[in-house]
Amino acid sequence: MKMKNKMRLLTAAAFSVVGFAAFGQASLSKLPRVEEALLLDRSDGLLTEEQVRTVIRNAKTLIVKSHEVRSSEWLEKLATYYGTYGNYLRSTNNLEDPILRARQKVIVYNQNGMVHFAHGGEPVEQVIKIYERLGGRKGQILAANSWDEISEMRKGVLTLKEGAKLWVPYAQKSFPVLFRPVAWSRISSGFGFRRHPKLKYKRFHDGFDLVAPYGASVRASEAGVVTFAGWEGGYGNLVEIRHKNTTTRYGHLSKIKVLVGDKVGRKEIIGNVGSTGLSTGPHLHFEVRRNSDGKLQNPRKYLF
Ligand SMILES: [Zn+2]
Repeated sequence: MKMKNKMRLLTAAAFSVVGFAAFGQASLSKLPRVEEALLLDRSDGLLTEEQVRTVIRNAKTLIVKSHEVRSSEWLEKLATYYGTYGNYLRSTNNLEDPILRARQKVIVYNQNGMVHFAHGGEPVEQVIKIYERLGGRKGQILAANSWDEISEMRKGVLTLKEGAKLWVPYAQKSFPVLFRPVAWSRISSGFGFRRHPKLKYKRFHDGFDLVAPYGASVRASEAGVVTFAGWEGGYGNLVEIRHKNTTTRYGHLSKIKVLVGDKVGRKEIIGNVGSTGLSTGPHLHFEVRRNSDGKLQNPRKYLF
């Protein structure tokens, strides 16, 4: 009980520090400046980082701020901390790679939608059209932003001011997402250089090793055409599927359930987890290649 009261006091103090007069009102009309929100972080000793996040998460007004990623944080966790969803943050920050790295700076906020950072001079009508393609609604955008603060007339056209932040409720981009080929317990080996468990020397690991029980179903991570199905050296029993933009490989299978030339649907069963080829135990070796240049991709870019 005592703790609760203390928290409430601290919350009030933090807001008087930054002067959020609108706190408590269900209005998005005023966008606090990023710099203002950053003051919350600098309330030395007054609030812990965790309390700052609680304040932001529970605030009714939109709060936008910059966040430096810690090694223990991933996109969805961060989004939940602040009160939104990973894909909104991914969209605003334009993160092709959803894997966050420590010390990376990302824009975070507490509402569902995207923030447009204005270069200055872009016609408002044009910007709204772009966001309508991403699920934004003109009416909602107009209602959510205070126009006298973010726009100016230039040659008779309403344009965004330089540095203005336009809030676009519910807009989000769509990024390529592959279906998880197997319900795995953990990734035993990631993408990149590693000491090979059997060969005992360092070599590049082309994909992910997903630990899964022997015999577990392996599913196509996207619809496509089977381009290989059979034994392939260290891969053991291998299936390769060519999709629209990527090609995926599934190695060490105990059983293969497709033939070359087969058309498979997303999530369709193509085989079973095994330990064939160069393998120390049952797991799925999973690889992703980009079709445009054949380059190996970190599967983390595509898997959620
Ligand atoms: Zn592997």
